[in-house]
Amino acid sequence: MRVNLRAYSLERIKCAMAARNIAPYRAAQIFQWIWQKNAQDFSVMTNISKTLRHALAEEFDIRGLVIEKIAGTKDGVQKFLFRTEDNLYIETVSIPEQKRWTICVSTQVGCPLNCRFCATGLMDFKRNLGAHEIVDQIRLVQQSIGSKITNIVFMGMGEPLLNLKQVTEALDIISSPIGLSISQRHTTISTVGIIKGIRELLRSTLKTKLAISLNFADDQLRQKMMPVAKGNPLKELMSVAREYSIKKSMVTFEYVLIDRINDHLEDAERLLKLVNGIPSKINLITYNP
Ligand code: SF4
Repeated sequence: MRVNLRAYSLERIKCAMAARNIAPYRAAQIFQWIWQKNAQDFSVMTNISKTLRHALAEEFDIRGLVIEKIAGTKDGVQKFLFRTEDNLYIETVSIPEQKRWTICVSTQVGCPLNCRFCATGLMDFKRNLGAHEIVDQIRLVQQSIGSKITNIVFMGMGEPLLNLKQVTEALDIISSPIGLSISQRHTTISTVGIIKGIRELLRSTLKTKLAISLNFADDQLRQKMMPVAKGNPLKELMSVAREYSIKKSMVTFEYVLIDRINDHLEDAERLLKLVNGIPSKINLITYNP
């Protein structure tokens, strides 16, 4: 089987070219064809000589995700079902707004965290997605809707902070001027509150925004509904959230309202107390049955 060059970062393509005595600038050309010009094979890369294209095609290919199904709704929201190379399925949602196209991308196949209210949590966790599979969702949605995506949220299937290395590589491709050329400031990582991962983000040079899927304002209920909360207590979580808001950008707290579970007046009061002193936004979301 030929090696998939789409799964290589720009640096790795450069190394692969250097190892074959091919000029390094060819790596940038190939990268641009893959990510910016939607090439499906080497034959369309017209600024590369025929001989080199042929040699590359003998050894490599640039296969990507396959769109299996698109489901639309009246308000223009589209849900994409993608098939991976190893025949697994992931979902992506594109949302048109007035002057924006937001996309919600998956970072894992399934999810290991089992939040009680989440359909993905009920599925088996299969594996992390590679950076190229994360970016390919955006590339293919752009191609399908015929419009440039303006905002990206890592909020589809899976927990992005459990796959931070690949998410970081994906952000490199997304923001590269020869990649998708979308500013990192227009991207948001949405996490259930993995404190260790938020600390890593704080130490990194990434410029992505942070959303914390909070949902419950007391530890006991949160731990019951979101098992991951056991190792990520609210006090410590609020402390890193505050640091993120101050040092990087204002955090959003997501709160899914679940009938008679977390939507009492006392829950609202607890929530206000919890976020007191943290520059933040609260996003109240209706639970989708
Ligand atoms: S972390 Fe996200 S995707 Fe995973 S089970 Fe919880 S809500 Fe669902």
